[in-house]
Amino acid sequence: MTELSTTAAPDSSAAFAAASQSGAADYPGLDEWRSLPINQQPTWSDPAVFDASVKELSILPPLVFAGEVDVLRERLAAAAQGRAFLLQGGDCAETFEAATADRISSRVKTILQMAVVLTYGASLPVIKMGRMAGQFAKPRSSNDETRDGVTLPAYRGDIVNGYEFTPESRAHDAGRMLRAYHTSASTLNLIRAFTTGGFADLRLVHQWNKGFTANPAHARYESLAKDIDRAITFMQSCGADFEALKRVEFFASHEALLLDYERALTRIDSRTGFPYDTSSHFLWIGERTRELDHAHVDFLSRVRNPIGVKLGPTTSGDDALRLIDKLDPNREPGRLTFITRMGAGKIRENLPPIVEKVTASGAQVLWVTDPMHGNTVTSKNGYKTRRFDDVMDEVRGFFEVHEALGTFPGGLHVEMTGDDVAECLGGADPIDEAAFEDRYESVCDPRLNHMQSLELAFLVAGSLSKR
Ligand code: PEP
Ligand code: MN
Repeated sequence: MTELSTTAAPDSSAAFAAASQSGAADYPGLDEWRSLPINQQPTWSDPAVFDASVKELSILPPLVFAGEVDVLRERLAAAAQGRAFLLQGGDCAETFEAATADRISSRVKTILQMAVVLTYGASLPVIKMGRMAGQFAKPRSSNDETRDGVTLPAYRGDIVNGYEFTPESRAHDAGRMLRAYHTSASTLNLIRAFTTGGFADLRLVHQWNKGFTANPAHARYESLAKDIDRAITFMQSCGADFEALKRVEFFASHEALLLDYERALTRIDSRTGFPYDTSSHFLWIGERTRELDHAHVDFLSRVRNPIGVKLGPTTSGDDALRLIDKLDPNREPGRLTFITRMGAGKIRENLPPIVEKVTASGAQVLWVTDPMHGNTVTSKNGYKTRRFDDVMDEVRGFFEVHEALGTFPGGLHVEMTGDDVAECLGGADPIDEAAFEDRYESVCDPRLNHMQSLELAFLVAGSLSKR
């Protein structure tokens, strides 16, 4: 194994040590997934481009550092024990084109605003995490798409092919994995600058609201920000030191779908000797690739990152126990997160037996609600959408179930954006179907817009503070 040259890491000495990471070429078991059944993978059009891309990815620097990943695991352990709350949000599918400073900053600002609402409302530390800087690969229900009698391969995310409906664009181009890496790097760079360079300073809590459209949620946020201002002024007069408020921790995450990419970015951490998938801090396994004896579960069982698994309405308690045995055999707090996405009509019935089984087994996982993916419908005018009321109802159901069982509802996972899009129906300043024609921008699933995201944060803050 060749050691990579060490580059300067941003903050701690742990991160610095972790920057020296080897390519994991012959680490035992890391390639076991290649002999297992695997779903949702591309059929690359040019093997030579694939070989060259994987080779380059495996020597490029890590995008995140193992020391940061370990910090996240500790934070998630606190959330699993009811001492923190995870807020995870971002696009269904990031695109290369939309990785601009404006779009990235409005998404980060929205997540910071939601986090402030939650922290202030619930008096709990909030772990801030983007579905960002790597959310480029999408599972699809069909391999093909037909338009006006023409059938082409389905869009699988910018890391695989283009959204444009032409044979050239829809071909599976392995060279896109390199562009995904570089786009992730520039996105992360901007996120790091925003969250550590003074922009995320809590004293600027009003600034984060600037530039967004005035609406009911906007006004409610402004009034909360005034309360925070008053509290800060009071503390400042008491001589409190606000240096600590200048920086926030912000973590990246994405669905670990494209295993060629994830494997190529896996490195051996020089401090611990363990493999870390350095494409992101947190990785999750989707509802469609969580079969126990398939490739995705096997590969992710072997890296040290905290791992999430999406659990849909057909999940049984035994499925959950088997996933725990495979992904978290040592029952390590913070290692495993279950992201449930049952649907508003099903959560109150389907979630309790799973939670009960897991609790009875003694395992401690982090329970997170994804109120988006079980509530997708098609609008009358043909758009993939979600009703904001269903999203809110699934969140309420999640809180009710955990309240009844005495377990902790530890996080929220949402598809959202800071932009003023019209993709989900309803909200305090309601979006209707007609608005889709002008303001529907997602290339995959519908996202909450800025106002709907804040509104949801107020609901969650209310539910958390009641506990
Ligand atoms: C997603 O998070 O975009 C997704 C595809 O979710 P799920 O695996 O829950 O369907
Ligand atoms: Mn989605």
